[in-house]
Order: sequence, then C-alpha cells, then structure tokens
Amino acid sequence: MSPLRPLDQSGKLKDVLYEIRGQALVEADRLEAEGHTILKLNTGNPAVFGFEAPFQIVRDMIESIPEAHGYSDSKGILSARRAVVYRYEQDPTFPPFGPEDVYLGNGVSELITMTMQALLDEGDEVLIPAPDYPLWTAMTSLGGGTPVHYLADEDDGWQPDLEDIRSKVTPRTKAIVVINPNNPTGAVYSREVLEGIAEIARENSLLILSDEIYDRILFDDAVHIPMASVAPDLLVLTFNGLSKTYRVAGYRSGWLVITGPKQHARGFIEGITLLASTRLCPNVPAQHAVQAALSGVQSIDALIAPTGRLHEQRDAAWKTLESIPGVSCVKPHGALYAFPRLDPEVHEIHDDGRLVYDFLVAEHVLLVQGTGFNWATPDHLRIVTLPEARVLSEAIERLGNFLASYRQ
Ligand code: PLP
Repeated sequence: MSPLRPLDQSGKLKDVLYEIRGQALVEADRLEAEGHTILKLNTGNPAVFGFEAPFQIVRDMIESIPEAHGYSDSKGILSARRAVVYRYEQDPTFPPFGPEDVYLGNGVSELITMTMQALLDEGDEVLIPAPDYPLWTAMTSLGGGTPVHYLADEDDGWQPDLEDIRSKVTPRTKAIVVINPNNPTGAVYSREVLEGIAEIARENSLLILSDEIYDRILFDDAVHIPMASVAPDLLVLTFNGLSKTYRVAGYRSGWLVITGPKQHARGFIEGITLLASTRLCPNVPAQHAVQAALSGVQSIDALIAPTGRLHEQRDAAWKTLESIPGVSCVKPHGALYAFPRLDPEVHEIHDDGRLVYDFLVAEHVLLVQGTGFNWATPDHLRIVTLPEARVLSEAIERLGNFLASYRQ
C-alpha cells in the first residue's frame, strides 16, 4: 500500500472564520468533560437557558411527522410559504410578493450560504457591516467573493456610517448586507440610515441582503423598519426564521423572501432555485412549524415587554457592564446580545481571543471576542443576554473582577 497522502482542508476555507464556536469552545467542552460547570454565553440559543418552545409549534411539528417522511418541494411546502406571505401582508408597507418568492431553509444559515454561492464570482465585492454576524463574511469568502467591511459607528449607537459605505463602493460591488436588529451590537437602525443605504444601493445598482432574524426582539419602544419597505423599487432579499423569535433554533427553520423588480435578476434567482433543488428540500417536519409559529400566539411579546424576561436580562447585562471601570456599552435596543467596549487606556488588550480564553479558564464563563465579529481592534466582547438576570449579572461582575487585575 502506498503511504497515505496528507489531507488538508481546501484552500477555499482560508478566510472562513466562525469564532462563535472556535477554539475557546473546544476548551470549554474539555473543562466540562473534566466535571466543571461552564456558563456558555457564546451562542444565541434560547433553549439552553430555559426558554420553552411555544406549545402549538411543538404540537404541529409532532402531528406532522407521520406525513412528513418524504421530500417536499425544493422551495418548501406551500402552506408554510403561504404563511410567510400572510405574515408580511399584515404590514402594509412591505412590498407584495407571492409564495413563489419564498424559499424555506434549514435555518437562515443555509439560505445565506445558498445566496452567496448563487451570487458571487471570483473578486465580486460584498459590503458587510463591521462588526457583523460572521457567517455573512465567511460565506462571502467561501462563495469566492471579497468581503468589504463598512463601519457601524459606536458613537452613533452603532448605526451604519453612510459615508463609509459610500466610500467603499467600487465597480466590483454586487451587494450590501444589512443586519437589523444587529448581532452583535443590538442596534436597531433608524429610518434615515435605512433610506441612506437604499439610496446608495439605488445609485450603484446593488442587491440588498437584509438579515432581519431579530425583527421581533425589540426593547425601549424601538421600531423595526423592514429594508424591503424602504426600498420597494430595489431587489431585496429578506432573511428571517424561527430560531430566535420562536426559540426553536434546533429545528433549523428559516425563510428568504424576494421582493422588488426581478426581471433584471432572473439568472441570479434561477441560481438560488437551482441550489434549493440540489439540497432537495429543507427538513420537512420543521417546515410544518412555520405555519404554526406565524399564525399562533406571538409569545415573544411578553418576553420583550418591560417586565418580560428578555427585557430584564438586557437591563441587567447593560447596567452591570456599565458599572465596570473602563468598560462601556451602547444599550442594545434589540436582539439577544451586548457588545461592550474595553477602554484601551484602562485595559491593555492585544489579543482579545486570548482574553476570552484566559477568562474562561479562570472563571468558567465563555464569551466571544469582538474580532470574531470582524471588528478590527481587540477592544470588544460579545455577551449573550439569555441567562436569567441574576446569573448574567453575576457572570459580568466576575468579568469586572477578572479585568481589574488582568494584564497581557
Ligand atoms: N443571522 C443572524 C444575525 C444570527 O444572529 C443568526 C444566529 O445567531 C443567524 C442568522 C442564523 O440563524 P439560523 O438559526 O436561522 O440559521
């Protein structure tokens, strides 16, 4: 037998990074296997923090199982796609579309991957916010494109910087990604900023990719404005799903809606349809959860109300962070995260991945470094605000104590 050839990962993965489940998680799992209790604040997974799945979703999914053992239509079952249409019809500002414009996916993640694979050729550029939800950058790279990060301005409540966006458009720019409400910052974008982004897209014939998975997780009277409503004259792909609002991330169920003029984009849309076919279909029982979720009681409303659990936890995280010397945090008005800043004058951090690792080993709490969200400087951390307020405050107090004597 000839010697086995070394087998490495493909070169395509060179720029594919996903620190949310990176090396620190490997260490956290190792510590757990040793018998330690680790508070994992790295993923926005409501189920592990005691959030129950709404009963009618679980019931409909279970009832569907005896009939859900075959492949479905590649775009997804019609009843679920109709439910998505109905959901957006309740908002008169959202441009009209039909079930044929809806693609269901195994989570938004799969739909992001398909979109980037269908869209990009070598060297095509995609404007992506910094900080971002890193799958957008990773899938742009995997798709052969070049991620170009535009700044969200921390001093302006993490709103996207329109001038920076404008300055980064080139003849190779194909699309702009908008994540609103934002992961990791919790910013909810103003109408003015969304209109500014639409204007830049209009002037430069850019596709808009709008990740709105947190659109119902809003605090402090924040209002979510769908990108498609602001740009009905442009091709907009809106991404959303059941993982966050309905707390069933493990079902892997999401959707993509195409609105605006389609004539000029027939080839691209055919590409998405082709890739939807090659994956055959999304998990069928989870597709049955879509109609149940969208037509049932919207139990998220009680959780985000001022006395609701998510609201209280957001408050507790933010207040405790702000009480740490040398730490500040823009108050998150949506989503499930806080993205505090460590003042470099007070906390000299050269390697934020190292900080996360050292804090994990010392205090058994797992966070994610800001650079894992394509933030350029090692001066931020992301904290998931899903644990109960008491647990969250205590973990953040431990971060404060740890930082007080931490040096790199
Ligand atoms: N988009 C954003 C902004 C997210 O935060 C997440 C998950 O955290 C996803 C997409 C992926 O969601 P899904 O579970 O639907 O794949």
